[in-house]
Amino acid sequence: MMRNPLIAGNWKMNTTLDEAIVLVQDMLKEKEDGDSVEKVICPPFISLPAIKDLLKGTSFKLGAQNMYFEDKGAYTGEISPLMLSALCDYVILGHSERRHYFMENDETVNKKVKKAFESGLKPILCVGESLEDNEAGKTEQIIIGQVETDLANVVPTGDLVIAYEPIWAIGTGKAATGKQANVTINLIRRTLADQWNKETAQKVRILYGGSVTGNNIGEFIAESDIDGALVGGASLKAVEFSSIIKQAANLKSTQ
Ligand code: PEP
Repeated sequence: MMRNPLIAGNWKMNTTLDEAIVLVQDMLKEKEDGDSVEKVICPPFISLPAIKDLLKGTSFKLGAQNMYFEDKGAYTGEISPLMLSALCDYVILGHSERRHYFMENDETVNKKVKKAFESGLKPILCVGESLEDNEAGKTEQIIIGQVETDLANVVPTGDLVIAYEPIWAIGTGKAATGKQANVTINLIRRTLADQWNKETAQKVRILYGGSVTGNNIGEFIAESDIDGALVGGASLKAVEFSSIIKQAANLKSTQ
């Protein structure tokens, strides 16, 4: 089964509007690599409209970093799927920083995943274990629990994207190895096959995230079950992000 690789950049809470515009302009100066890799950038909410304009006619797609699970109402400070679906194709949901700093849990993530699909947005659902759970040998149990609860009563669809992001690898410079990531990503695919069905599980793209750089992307892309990467820090550097995309395109085309 050939799945189109996806490289997504999560800018987190970085870049003012002006800085975001310059970063996108710098990315667009890098040589085009065609459509063999789907490319998504996820800037802060306030930059989405301006970046949407800049990306018109390019092969980059736009994603948001979070959303609320209601369409509108008295939810001060939240962003609605209706506001995002006019601007974005994708939305990152359940990022470990949302779970850790903003008390999101699997039940709220599940509501968001359902709402995203209802609103025409494709979720990039993040799952991953903490260092403590990893060291206690609980990775499998944690990951299966997250996938099952986050996707409870979600209609099976190949439009889902999952990012496996071990928390101990995010922003630490200590990436998992390609082999380690592939084992857990294969577990995620088997869990999906049990929960949904094998055919859909084969269509879902599952990314690795956690300290991906231009120096280590090759190690992940080479693995059979890894369909791309969710990139944090390195997505804020135009040349490096472009190098990650180009390497992914080259490596997947030779597999
Ligand atoms: C992320 O924010 O999803 C991430 C993986 O960050 P970093 O690449 O900086 O570890």
